[in-house]
Amino acid sequence: MGCRKVLTLERLQQIRKEHRPILEARVGEAGNADINEDGSIVLNGDYYKKQVRIALKNCGIINPLMIEDYIAVDGYSALANILFNKSSGEIIDDMMASNLRGRGGAGFPTGRKWNEAFKYDADQKFMICNADEGDPGAFMDRSILENDPHSVLEGMAIGGYAVGADKGFIYVRAEYPIAVKRLRTAIEQAKELGILGNNILGTGFSFDIELRLGSGAFVCGEGTALIESIEGKRGMPRTKIHRTAHKGLWQKPTIINNVETYANVPVIFQKGVDWFRSIGTEKSPGTKVFSLVGKVQNAGLVEVPMGTPLREIVYDIGGGVQDGKGFKAVQTGGPSGGCIPAHLIDTPVDFESLGKIGSIMGSGGMVVMDEDTCMVDVARFFLEFTVDESCGKCVPCREGTKRMLEILERIVSGHGEDGDIELMEDLSETISKASLCGLGQTASNPVVTTIKYFRDEYEAHINEKK
Ligand code: SF4
Repeated sequence: MGCRKVLTLERLQQIRKEHRPILEARVGEAGNADINEDGSIVLNGDYYKKQVRIALKNCGIINPLMIEDYIAVDGYSALANILFNKSSGEIIDDMMASNLRGRGGAGFPTGRKWNEAFKYDADQKFMICNADEGDPGAFMDRSILENDPHSVLEGMAIGGYAVGADKGFIYVRAEYPIAVKRLRTAIEQAKELGILGNNILGTGFSFDIELRLGSGAFVCGEGTALIESIEGKRGMPRTKIHRTAHKGLWQKPTIINNVETYANVPVIFQKGVDWFRSIGTEKSPGTKVFSLVGKVQNAGLVEVPMGTPLREIVYDIGGGVQDGKGFKAVQTGGPSGGCIPAHLIDTPVDFESLGKIGSIMGSGGMVVMDEDTCMVDVARFFLEFTVDESCGKCVPCREGTKRMLEILERIVSGHGEDGDIELMEDLSETISKASLCGLGQTASNPVVTTIKYFRDEYEAHINEKK
């Protein structure tokens, strides 16, 4: 790195100019995308018509192994523009104004988080990308990492400049070997070109990124458990005395955002805050990527404006339920999400609306169920996952979820007893109030929502034996 030539802005622009016609020719030949008048390249076909792609905008269009392809679609232009024209404070102001909310599940405003780390004086600060995607059937982050890794690197570098961090870590699942390989290639290429490393574009700003591989513990997707794991300890959530933006990795100010959040950042700075806020809802601007799976005709990744009704996602994009069967429910938010029944299918998908009906956005899992699905068994399936993944640090989660699973298993096997439903409701309340981390706090959501919306199925199982 020491003898490396500093990349100039002119050289970056020249690469874009030279490579853009090559990319356009390749896209024209493949015939799977259209080039719009504003220069954007979008995938064609019915499946994409109702989608608005920000985080996935380059997926399926660029070659993720070529940094020139990313530059040809204006990649790294936001970083370059920021480094020359904006102060850290201005970037934070823009992020706050954009109201980009974390796409990993909690929906915390990214700008507020960055502002907190920015305010603390420290000799070292860190940016972390949480790529420990663990929800069953979810592959939003994996697709971005495999198909557009540079967008994540650029988002992290912008964040690093904003908060004053010169070091980033991407914590990625080892079970994603292609994503890991492509990230490694992307980091190497960015370093070679001078986009990462010392004195980026001759501005004096330095930023470096390293990979850390997670070994498959679901709880390591929780921020403080992830930090413990990077520090080389057992991945268990910390008791929250400090926010990680104040004292995170090695007790230094640390920003943790997920893959999709970082992939949004460069586009916000390319196209502007007003453009971003014109998409989605007032409280949840922008888009969200969902992994649409289960008994739906067109399973796959879907990116839509926040506030899009569930019906549009399931029917207009997903093509409806398989084999002409009736729609029964959709489960959103991964194993800790809730089951939404048919009469609520016009619910807009945003943080507030899903919360109101007992579900969560989570990181974007969306499982469609047909009329033949037993909802008690669905609750049992998700709870079994959570019981397996509980780290065991606190009693309500470690013991409470196990007891609840035992009750569910006896109900499903036809040995349920009067009072079992009420017992599970009591347990749910205690577990969600007394657990240390989000895993335990939300573990009973599938049970609570299925009892709320499908109580008759629980009662039918219990009455079976009578
Ligand atoms: Fe571990 Fe569950 Fe407690 Fe979280 S809630 S710390 S996963 S035992």
